[in-house]
Amino acid sequence: MAQSVDTQVLVIGAGPGGYPAAFHAADRGKSVILVDEDPRLGGVCLNRGCIPSKALLHVARLIHEVRALASHGVRYEGPQVDLERLRAYVHNQVIGRLNTGIAQLAKARGIRVLTGQASFVDPHTVVVRPGGAPETVVRFEHAIVAPGSLPALPRAWQIDPERIWDSTAALRLPQIPSRLLVIGGGYIGLELGTVYAALGSQVTVVEALEGVLPLADRDLVAPLEKRLRQEFTAIYTSTRVASLQATAAGIEVTLEGRDVPDKLTFDAVLVAVGRRPNTAALALDKAGIKTDERGYILVDEQRRTSVPHIYAVGDAAGEPGLAHKATAEARVAVEALMGEPALWQPRAIPAVVFTDPEIAWAGLTQREAEASGIPHAVIKFPWVASGRAVTLDRTEGLTKLIVDPDSKRILGVGMVGVGVGDMIAEGVLAIEMGAVARDLLETIHPHPTLSETLMECAELAYGATVHFAPPSVRKSH
Ligand code: NAD
Repeated sequence: MAQSVDTQVLVIGAGPGGYPAAFHAADRGKSVILVDEDPRLGGVCLNRGCIPSKALLHVARLIHEVRALASHGVRYEGPQVDLERLRAYVHNQVIGRLNTGIAQLAKARGIRVLTGQASFVDPHTVVVRPGGAPETVVRFEHAIVAPGSLPALPRAWQIDPERIWDSTAALRLPQIPSRLLVIGGGYIGLELGTVYAALGSQVTVVEALEGVLPLADRDLVAPLEKRLRQEFTAIYTSTRVASLQATAAGIEVTLEGRDVPDKLTFDAVLVAVGRRPNTAALALDKAGIKTDERGYILVDEQRRTSVPHIYAVGDAAGEPGLAHKATAEARVAVEALMGEPALWQPRAIPAVVFTDPEIAWAGLTQREAEASGIPHAVIKFPWVASGRAVTLDRTEGLTKLIVDPDSKRILGVGMVGVGVGDMIAEGVLAIEMGAVARDLLETIHPHPTLSETLMECAELAYGATVHFAPPSVRKSH
């Protein structure tokens, strides 16, 4: 027998869009039901995405750093990887701890959590089907839909799930393959390629476009690509995979591209060619929720769908598919639902690639500025001039600002180097606050830190800075 419950706010999906939405609504006095198919709250990001990949990237970075110590006179033996313990660390100590934290926070707010797959029945009703157990019919006043996204795995490549992985499979660490092919040189391909290379795999990357991380400025990608070409066996750009064939010897791969081998064999293949909205099971049409031709839910500037009392946030509500964008949208949706003034109008959504070095950017990129003809000036501060970078022996980094040529207002910030994923927040704040370069240079930054590179870069916008004089101001004798 189905049970029936009523709630003021129903939230579908307990990822970084859904659970903050549920918490904001409960904190404003609403009765809230939060539904997820996975009993472990936190969504893809926590259970099969951002968090496990960052835990593994942390391990990868330590492996590299310990290795690099040899040239500074401190030598350790090579790593011995106990895969079972590594898995247990990521899944129990990292993911499990955060799952428990979210569950406790939901309980403390009096949120009712239902486990099961939610489907709309009509614009005010959803049925939640837990595998095996009786279903629950939920009647709601408002809903916030935050179902996230799924890895895109072309059907023709779904031929050997043991050896052809998506990111979810790769994060389970089923084995450390001797030869790993990564299809797609985007965020996931490079981050997980870095992890497996550090653990001992020979990694080959195939990227269809001209360069890896095609959305990022080339000068930011260059130091990363240089390092990855040392860590990986090969990176083939402007190359496509024509076919994959499962054989006893491995997965045989036929490539199409300039100066690439026709055929290669791998022990495992990671497909990282993008993600798609996870909306198939929701029966959005039963509620009248409209989607675009790619399946993304159409939303307005308050994240309201085509049905006024239903909102959508996160990956399924449009790109970029980033956890922090989902979390920020959740606040807007709840404020709008409460009748508070709310508008989704961020000036900058930061992007971070957690490789080693990291790449981060926010606001206008140089390639966007050039492509759209926006007047801009680019100012670059190379980390060879940073004392902190020298102490870390990581001077390959670069900090750059894209500014308005007249007002010097900061339009974009880009960085590559260790730790820039944390540093980019200052750039986002500068863009959001409408800061000009002078605001940044007058902000006293602690010494010696990598954050000083932002301050010095801002100073360069007006000529020279203490630790770097561009060629235009250098005097020859
Ligand atoms: P992506 O869009 O970042 O990269 C996919 C890459 O695959 C692109 O460079 C594309 O040109 C290439 N590609 C597509 N089809 C191909 C083919 N047939 N052969 C070779 N290359 C091909 O996608 P992703 O890496 O799968 O990640 C998905 C999304 O997840 C990202 O866009 C991002 O929103 C999110 N994500 C973010 C982070 C982060 O914030 N650090 C990390 C992982 C994932």
